[in-house]
Amino acid sequence: MSAIDDMLHFNKGVVRLYPGIESKAPPRKRLAIVACMDARIVPATHLGIQVGDAHIIRNAGGRVAEAIRSLALSQVLLGTEEVAVIHHTDCGLLAPSEDAVRAAFLARGIDPGGLDLLTFSDLDRSLLDDIALYRSSPLLRQDIPVRGLIFDVATSRLSEVDAGALGR
Ligand code: ZN
Repeated sequence: MSAIDDMLHFNKGVVRLYPGIESKAPPRKRLAIVACMDARIVPATHLGIQVGDAHIIRNAGGRVAEAIRSLALSQVLLGTEEVAVIHHTDCGLLAPSEDAVRAAFLARGIDPGGLDLLTFSDLDRSLLDDIALYRSSPLLRQDIPVRGLIFDVATSRLSEVDAGALGR
């Protein structure tokens, strides 16, 4: 069975247990999370996020550059008013240079062309850069909190980046 077949099979049991979702579409916690797609981070397990609680926008690295459209829609259409950006230790985009990742594409015969792969070499820095990018976007609400968090995959600890300590 493929992983997708597994998923379809599992869902049959879910439908029996939870035939409908009673909460409304706007997230109960009015929270949007931008997080890396890394499979080791599970919002329900690590962040206490349950059905109906939050928008979880995931991409490689948890980069804001790739999440702006979704964040804007989350805020304009569904009223979220707090943003958490989560990057993590041992990320696949952490440390290797953009050229090294580009080489992996080329080795598979794929030319990434001008695509910015959004690699980074420092977790604090990448979060501060992403918060700065958020703050520079005219599409996003600037009157709400935007906080940068680091998830340590070795300990499951979530900690906040201190923007002040890095002279921002
Ligand atoms: Zn990652």
